[in-house]
Amino acid sequence: MGIHASWDMIVIGGGIAGLTAAVRAGQSGLRVCVLEKGSDESYLCNSRYTGGTLHVCLRDIMADPAELRAAIETATAGQVSPAVADAIATDGRRFVRWLQEMGTRFMKISPAAYHNWVLAPPRPVRPGLDWKGRGGDVLLRMLGAAVVKQGGKVIRGARARELVMREGRCIGVRADIEGHTMTFNSAATVIADGGFQANAELVRENISPRPERLKQRGAGTGAGDGLIMAREAGAQTRGLQCFYGHVLSRQAMSNDDLWPVPVIDPLAASGIVVDAQARRFANEGEGGVFIANAIARLEDPFSVHAIFDDAIWNGPGKNDFIPPNPNVPNGGGTLLVANSIAELARMAGLPEAMLVSTVQEYNAAVVNGATDSLLPPRRSDKIRPQPIERAPYYAIPVCAGITYTMGGILVNEHACALDMNGVVMPGLYAAGSASGGVEGGPRVGYVGGLAKAGVLGLRSAEHIAMQRSA
Ligand SMILES: Cc1cc2nc3c(=O)[nH]c(=O)nc-3n(C[C@H](O)[C@H](O)[C@H](O)COP(=O)(O)OP(=O)(O)OC[C@H]3O[C@@H](n4cnc5c(N)ncnc54)[C@H](O)[C@@H]3O)c2cc1C
Repeated sequence: MGIHASWDMIVIGGGIAGLTAAVRAGQSGLRVCVLEKGSDESYLCNSRYTGGTLHVCLRDIMADPAELRAAIETATAGQVSPAVADAIATDGRRFVRWLQEMGTRFMKISPAAYHNWVLAPPRPVRPGLDWKGRGGDVLLRMLGAAVVKQGGKVIRGARARELVMREGRCIGVRADIEGHTMTFNSAATVIADGGFQANAELVRENISPRPERLKQRGAGTGAGDGLIMAREAGAQTRGLQCFYGHVLSRQAMSNDDLWPVPVIDPLAASGIVVDAQARRFANEGEGGVFIANAIARLEDPFSVHAIFDDAIWNGPGKNDFIPPNPNVPNGGGTLLVANSIAELARMAGLPEAMLVSTVQEYNAAVVNGATDSLLPPRRSDKIRPQPIERAPYYAIPVCAGITYTMGGILVNEHACALDMNGVVMPGLYAAGSASGGVEGGPRVGYVGGLAKAGVLGLRSAEHIAMQRSA
């Protein structure tokens, strides 16, 4: 086992969270080393695949912090501590300005306020994965180069495995490099390994009985190493049950034209989703991220169809940025079309009488403005429920796409990891998708992966620099 030189800060993971922390720390004169398990120069991670929209709760990240804080509290149903909500609400804009000072360009790519701050160049408006030379890729290269320019180090092909702890303080990391274990001593360690979505065992434990039936809607590099090593060291975790993701055509499991976009969310959230018994099982009105989580929790996440009518298909179905109409059928995804609900049920292999009754019951509730009393209830104030009444009728077999896990190592507003008693663990930090207590809750509140990565990345570095100079 080798010992590597001592560092002021070790960062586990070279995504946007980790590299932001590293560059910010370098700006304060700290000696920084980033351990990245990917060995390729363009190692894959969610930050490279990202759509690049900086937002908070799908609002303009530059909006009034009080408005953003309220949006975080509503989306997460109060699960996020006020100090953490405040940090994201106030520092999202600071992250944008900081990136601009470093030369990052942003674009507004649609009239929606949500799209006011998108990393340039944006992804082209077409289905499928397209990351080379796009905003996330450009940003990672710039940040990686900045770390090195400041005198820091980025070691690729280095997989962190274990934290070195002494008397409750994190004093380093052990990592596997080319078949050898190396120990890195450091005054502080930032875990930024991108979550645990690609760890089937952890996903089975927390999210879905059938992890193999979820589509990895990202790079699939978040294997939960950080969560496991932090837990072993005594860290508390929060909100492991929720993930950020979307409803996808089931063929996305094997067809790369059908992920990460188009998503089925607008169809599923304006119409209904049903299980193998043709029964509704989710509050569709909470939106696609919520529905994807509900699908994942089913005994069989491959048992779901989105059901909608022609008004939905040609309305919300066309309104998304890269909409399901016509991109799902054009990309080879199944779209079942019938002139009656009974015929649609036969085509989809669903019990005919039950689907007819489910749709009738849903339609009556929509017409009477009583979707709250459906079982399960359906919210109508966020996304307008539309009746399924205008032929032709449609069904799409869907699956849940998991992009990143929302829960993780519980942190405070400085990205400090907290122990089982809620006390700061000296020397240990978590940022980005590795962190917990920032998103999720009963409504699966999506706050924003990039905002979370940037704000906690900045704040971890600033706290470490402050501790050093104190
Ligand atoms: C298709 C797609 C679209 C998205 N669009 C948006 C969007 O528009 N807006 C938004 O806010 N969010 C979006 N997101 C989410 C956002 O991109 C992520 O939340 C964010 O990039 C996460 O950054 P991160 O640094 O935490 O993780 P990552 O970027 O995943 O980086 C983690 C890094 O850690 C490395 N690693 C893992 N384990 C170890 C280990 N043991 N040792 C060393 N290294 C390790 C990995 O290889 C990886 O490089 C999108 C994500 C995807 C996939």
